[in-house]
Amino acid sequence: MVKYGTMSIRILSEQVASQIAAGEVVERPASVVKELVENAIDAGAKTVNIDIRGGGRQLVQVADDGLGISSDEIEIAFKRHSTSKLAQVEDLEAIETLGFRGEALAAISSVSQLTVVSRTQEDSAGTRLTLEAGVLANRESVGAPHGTVIAVANLFYNVPARLKFLKSVTTERKHIDEIVTRYAMAYPGIRFRLTHDNRITFQSSGGNLLDVLTSIYGSETAKQLLELREQGRSSAETDSRSSIRVSGFIGPPGLNWSNRNQITLYVNGRWIKDNRLNYAVIQAYHTLLPVGRYPLAVAFVTTDPENVDVNVHPAKTEVRFRQANAVFGALQRTVRQTLISDSPIPHATHFSSVIGQDWAGTTERQAPIWQTETALPGGRDFALDRRIGTQSGEVGSDGQQIEPVDGVSDDGLSNDGIKKLPIMRVVGQVGASYIVTEGPDGLYLIDQHAAHERVLYEKFMADWEEKQDQEGMISQGLVSGVTVQLSPAQSTLLEGHLHLMERIGFQIEPFGPNAYMVRSVPALLTKIDPARALLDVVEDMERGDAPLQGKIEARIILRVCKSAAVKAGQSLGYQEMEAMIRQLEQCQNPHTCPHGRPTLIHLSASQLAKEFGRT
Ligand code: ADP
Ligand code: MG
Repeated sequence: MVKYGTMSIRILSEQVASQIAAGEVVERPASVVKELVENAIDAGAKTVNIDIRGGGRQLVQVADDGLGISSDEIEIAFKRHSTSKLAQVEDLEAIETLGFRGEALAAISSVSQLTVVSRTQEDSAGTRLTLEAGVLANRESVGAPHGTVIAVANLFYNVPARLKFLKSVTTERKHIDEIVTRYAMAYPGIRFRLTHDNRITFQSSGGNLLDVLTSIYGSETAKQLLELREQGRSSAETDSRSSIRVSGFIGPPGLNWSNRNQITLYVNGRWIKDNRLNYAVIQAYHTLLPVGRYPLAVAFVTTDPENVDVNVHPAKTEVRFRQANAVFGALQRTVRQTLISDSPIPHATHFSSVIGQDWAGTTERQAPIWQTETALPGGRDFALDRRIGTQSGEVGSDGQQIEPVDGVSDDGLSNDGIKKLPIMRVVGQVGASYIVTEGPDGLYLIDQHAAHERVLYEKFMADWEEKQDQEGMISQGLVSGVTVQLSPAQSTLLEGHLHLMERIGFQIEPFGPNAYMVRSVPALLTKIDPARALLDVVEDMERGDAPLQGKIEARIILRVCKSAAVKAGQSLGYQEMEAMIRQLEQCQNPHTCPHGRPTLIHLSASQLAKEFGRT
């Protein structure tokens, strides 16, 4: 230990400075993989082979067939702050490559034994360099194909303090797998191959995103995924925000996990970690997933590079947005719309066989494994269309006019774009809790309580919206006015929506530049600080959401829980069951209750045939 005060001040040697800086870029073997893979992608590689030994501690090798590094520049590439991707400060404003800081190779080489072999199209031979702790140990000319191979051996061999922090081989491998699959998803056109100790553990074949998702998740899961599609944009997000696009795939609610690890987000092709955006995805599944369960999503947000600052941290996985709320809103909305129009009915695929089962004896029950069948034809998103600020006229009748049976396709599902359920005939009731129906493709079991909750939820929401359309929301005057300061952008947004603000119960007046005086607030919000209430609503608008939507939904869910009349264990007459089914059919989102549990499951005719050994 060096005692403070015993040394004079001096400038650190290049080597020590790089080692310190390396701490930020190179945390573990997976960081090396990340930086080398990014460099390969930036170099235009079509094939990237990653070979790992000992969880990356012994060796991380990345080989690409990209542009290569020319023999007269290769040494410079390993100096700190050397990059071919950025020349001036202004370039930072609009970064289109994955790298730009010119730090990775210097950092990695300073904490390992590194060998690079590279050759460009122009060079007649390749160059091989060996560096030990960042110091050039050997240079020679070698025969080599076009492209670059970088082998990083014995990571942290000269920094024992960091070696101690490495986890087990299994853990380090997991981190590496995560990095490689995430880049493979972002660049499906590039062929990736990952080997651990000479065994191929992942491979993508240079196709489209769904191909990559198939190699990661398997075809059973991949075929259930729903492709994100943007539908009509609400008027609040035209102009500047229309530059935000969202694409990718999401899982249906039936596919869910106990953690958020299956949510993968990219901004302009760069994988990012952003809790807020993760939350946008989770929120989109609101009422469709049970509490504590998380969806699968692979979503790509594209926006003007000028709207994103990636230079927040050396690892470049955090970004800042110029219009964070608009990005949040676009992502949340696209996921929600896709779910609402394309979510399938949960499908039971596993039965415990009755053969050989001791009816009297066993009490152990096997929980069904929720699975989903292929996507239904697209439907319409009433909830979103009906929102304030959108043209609501054409669907104002709340989907009452569901077209009857014609147009029902082979699978029994109408493709008129509105119906979310097949036409069903009530057969009976089981255990005073489930309604059994028959549809065009087999048997359906409906949880009567969950179904009733869904029906009431949508009814209360519709009632609320109608009442609000007619009367506006109840407003509560404040004893004394409260001033709120907004940003110029928020102020402009609010200016344009003063009428709407009045309708939802705010009485506000301009009070100096970008400032407003709040005189009354919606009765719904009297418990909140009035300034906070106004800001909440402005933030809702920035996201392109209907103001107060979230709060209202939460209230209505509470009310539904209290008032859902039909409970499990209550026997229902035929007509009551009929009525329940008809009402459920008219829901926009009939497949789950507002808490996200399924309202119905499906046993298809072919499953039944299979179970009875007929096929
Ligand atoms: P950055 O990627 O931020 O520019 P790096 O330290 O990762 O910084 O790389 C430094 C430079 O080395 C890059 O700008 C690039 O010119 C060159 N380079 C690194 N890896 C490769 C590669 N696989 N193929 C071609 N050039 C590369
Ligand atoms: Mg780089």
